[in-house]
Amino acid sequence: MLLEAALRFLFPDPAKCFLCGAPVALSPLCTACASSFRAGRSTMQPKIEFVNRVFALAPYRGEVRKKLHALKYWDRPAFARSFAQAVCDLVILTERYDLVTAIPMHRRRFIQRGYNQAELLAREIAARQRTPFRQVLKRVQDTRPQHLLGRMARQENLAHALALTARVEGLRVLLVDDILTTGSTLSAAASLLVTSKVKHVDALVVAVSLADSAGQ
Ligand SMILES: [Zn+2]
Repeated sequence: MLLEAALRFLFPDPAKCFLCGAPVALSPLCTACASSFRAGRSTMQPKIEFVNRVFALAPYRGEVRKKLHALKYWDRPAFARSFAQAVCDLVILTERYDLVTAIPMHRRRFIQRGYNQAELLAREIAARQRTPFRQVLKRVQDTRPQHLLGRMARQENLAHALALTARVEGLRVLLVDDILTTGSTLSAAASLLVTSKVKHVDALVVAVSLADSAGQ
């Protein structure tokens, strides 16, 4: 009974696959969903400037897309735990890290949403990797609209929109976000960390939006 209660606490619905609803014993994902991610992984190796290596669970489509959307917009913070569990079960991190951090959210949006989904994911992943989590980046006010700028200017704009809040010199950093689309935000964050003399930055995302990143 205690185990059952613990499982209910750990997973929103322990009897069903988090994504497809198929019956499942322990993991948040059924064997079919898990193996589809394993199969697709070799085809997703996005390159992002300033990021040493990018790790990703799945393409941004189907149920992954729906659940990430719910995590982001429909007030489902508990989904972060299931995604983090799936990431830690299925994505093989080849490095040890000194610090896990997340792509920050602007304070105004944080107040609207009540949480930063990237930070929830990063905290869960850090705990499972037994690595300290610290939010060392913050988003500062930026009034220049992105869509009016060219690619280089946009990159610079993003870099100015972020600030570092702690010393990170010499650290191996894992930077977490929910979805990778153009990679420009991860790149801007990584460039800030690299300029601040981290040892290196790897990125971990739940999903890669392949259609959007194809032109990068
Ligand atoms: Zn499934």
